[in-house]
Amino acid sequence: MIFDCHTHWGMCFVERDGRDPSAWLAVMDRYNVTHAIVLPHAGLEHAGHIADDHDDLAAVCAASDGRMIPFVTANPLDGDGGLAEIDRWLGDGEARGVKFHPWLQGMSVCTPFMDEVCERVAAHGAPILFHDGTPPYSLPAQIGMLARRHPRTTIVLGHTGLFEYWREAIAVMNARDNLWACLCGPQLEGVRQVLARCDRTRLLWGSDFGFTLFDALGYQLDLFRQAADDPTCQRILEDNPRRLLRWDA
Ligand SMILES: [Zn+2]
Repeated sequence: MIFDCHTHWGMCFVERDGRDPSAWLAVMDRYNVTHAIVLPHAGLEHAGHIADDHDDLAAVCAASDGRMIPFVTANPLDGDGGLAEIDRWLGDGEARGVKFHPWLQGMSVCTPFMDEVCERVAAHGAPILFHDGTPPYSLPAQIGMLARRHPRTTIVLGHTGLFEYWREAIAVMNARDNLWACLCGPQLEGVRQVLARCDRTRLLWGSDFGFTLFDALGYQLDLFRQAADDPTCQRILEDNPRRLLRWDA
């Protein structure tokens, strides 16, 4: 099994394929990727689209034979309404986690709302995946502070610092046991350094596929495999995501 832990059901796919995941899954098949965490897109861009985006996401994942694993988001300005949206999807296990993109969603992670979200999501036994690696609201250290305030919440750096901030991601990973990181963005030297200096039991791999129609999966997978030996590949592509998701299928 291979889990891609950072993909989207992007607006371009909604527009082209409606709620049919077959073309999306065909790209996964090309690289033997069996499962994917699928994050929202339209709802991250515009809070008014969250409910529709979640319905699309749920429908498309339900049609994927269990291969696409939905994560949902919430409107950070909606207080109790945002928390209710999270409860609605995590309560019955239809979604397996929550995603926030503080830069796109225009939110600081240092708010009472985010504190509530962290405790609520932890109570559901689910992780929160954050976009990270861009200075507006989304540096690894900012998200690391949130992880520090909520030690029982599992928080994932969705990009391990992206292109520029993987050194900062390494530092915060080594300071917080409840912080995980998805290798989705750093170039080869960054991936090597992360593998050498972080706890490998808290690392994931992802491609960001689905944000656009462009297929970066092969490139991202080759990049990772160049830096990782076989046992590390097994751990990061399968064992760790199964543990994160409490996957027993
Ligand atoms: Zn993404």
